[in-house]
Amino acid sequence: MSGPGPESCLFCRIARKELPAAVLFENERILAFEDIRPRAPVHALVIPKAHFASLNEAPEGSEGLLGEILSTARAIARQKGIDGSGYRVVLNTGPHSGQEVSHIHFHVLGGRPMAWPPG
Ligand code: AMP
Ligand code: ZN
Repeated sequence: MSGPGPESCLFCRIARKELPAAVLFENERILAFEDIRPRAPVHALVIPKAHFASLNEAPEGSEGLLGEILSTARAIARQKGIDGSGYRVVLNTGPHSGQEVSHIHFHVLGGRPMAWPPG
């Protein structure tokens, strides 16, 4: 699950502003933007600007960054007004999960009730 390198990686290109995205939050380390094919009334993606393919490739020492991404997911949920109704943060990892883009990304989904377990 290594995928393309940072040069041609879709989400690296979005982080470098080579491709457009509807940005919801940005700092030096993190970018949050609207998913282009929303699966729920609220569907955002939160990524580190640094390229790694999935949780499996998260480098040693990235725990702080991963925690900051989770805090950002919570902030997006607040920003979208779904913190009270509830939401789901999803980190697909590898083929069985359905991960398609090989740059780690956390989905923030909400605005409607969701089934459990996922398909
Ligand atoms: P995953 O299946 O977990 O790898 O999720 C990839 C997500 O990226 C999907 O929900 C896609 O809709 C989304 N996506 C793909 N291309 C773009 C893009 N250019 N801008 C925003 N979201 C995208
Ligand atoms: Zn990347």
